[in-house]
Amino acid sequence: MLTLEELYKSMLQRAVDGKDVKAVTNGDLKLMDCLAHPQDKPLVWRVKPCLCPPDQADCADACDWGAFHHEADGVAIDDSKCVGCQACIDACKMDALTTKKDIIPVVQELHDYNGPIYALVAPAVAGQFGPDVTSGRLRTALKSLGFTGMLEVAVFADILTLKEALEFDKKVTSEADFQLTSCCCPMWIAMIKKLYHQLLPNVPGSVSPMIAGGLTVKALHPEAKTVFIGPCLAKKAEMKEPDLAGAIDYVLTYQELRDLFTVTNIDLASLPEDNQPHASEAGISYAYAGGVAGAVAETVHQLNPDRAIDIKTRKADGVPDCKAMINDILAGNRDGNFFEGMGCKGGCVGGPRAIIKKEEGKANVQAYAKNALYRTPMENPYVIEMLKKLGFETVEDFLEKSDLYDRQLD
Ligand code: SF4
Ligand code: SF4
Repeated sequence: MLTLEELYKSMLQRAVDGKDVKAVTNGDLKLMDCLAHPQDKPLVWRVKPCLCPPDQADCADACDWGAFHHEADGVAIDDSKCVGCQACIDACKMDALTTKKDIIPVVQELHDYNGPIYALVAPAVAGQFGPDVTSGRLRTALKSLGFTGMLEVAVFADILTLKEALEFDKKVTSEADFQLTSCCCPMWIAMIKKLYHQLLPNVPGSVSPMIAGGLTVKALHPEAKTVFIGPCLAKKAEMKEPDLAGAIDYVLTYQELRDLFTVTNIDLASLPEDNQPHASEAGISYAYAGGVAGAVAETVHQLNPDRAIDIKTRKADGVPDCKAMINDILAGNRDGNFFEGMGCKGGCVGGPRAIIKKEEGKANVQAYAKNALYRTPMENPYVIEMLKKLGFETVEDFLEKSDLYDRQLD
């Protein structure tokens, strides 16, 4: 019988070759079905029998989100409660759990779908596919695979920075007021929604840059399919949340995309550049811890340099540190009025499906951001250009009159 990895590689190769992905001999039928049709499968798959007694199931103990229960043949996971933190997978000593892979149906869409398919690439991408693989070469590679185009999600981070900065300027007007970041990290939002509900009034109801990107593409090209590519597993859960579903059709990880480049033998470093640098330094810096807070603070200063209450940021990364910061807020030890939380240590460059180490990822992102043509979204003409395509003359006009990027969090 093929191992899961062997089965995955074999089915991926068949998808690339345009063959029936299920016509593999010696494959476990249940796993084949999961790999061929991940859309209707849970985020965490149990791939081996459970051998631990129910009262010693480390996986269930590791889940902070109440997603586990026990059934006659072992643990079972409620997908509607799973946020994709991977704690259960890390805790299972038997390697019985793994996360879904969505790449095979994406390859099939690239073969078969007649409409446009856009890749939306997360800001942590710099250097993930090798030191010489620039954003322009990655765009060339994705187009050669059949994508219509590649959009940098950092551009939508720019728009959401403006939204958060305007919200801060409007709502934080006394020493008693404070704001928590709303966008970007689904684990942070899940933490507040599920564990610290009382802080929801301090979170502006905004979608994440990923969802904003998907909504924008679909507003401009209703027949388009959208594929987000990043280092994150939680995004696979986020795209299915009932109020967000439909904006993004597939979430791939950098590791899944690397597998596709391996199977297709694409030598990324030798490809020609297809450059369209659209994001500002601030939007690109969403990729690492502190980047969102820094982007919003700089934009608040540009928007209203003379405001009476200055923005004072504080950040936490990794679930334990986020919880500690929230507990400080609840205890009245705020020491700030704008709080950024990221589910992973280091932020998205430390995401569970990044390819390179978080320190290297951060250095690459910072180098890329330094070369951006614009420092903040206030200076970025592409933000205005995109909003004009949506029918709005100014950012203020868009934020006041459109609810495209709004989200009801409770
Ligand atoms: S991935 Fe996280 S939220 Fe989902 S079941 Fe595992 S521990 Fe729970
Ligand atoms: S910090 Fe981690 S969980 Fe949060 S968006 Fe980034 S990769 Fe995903």
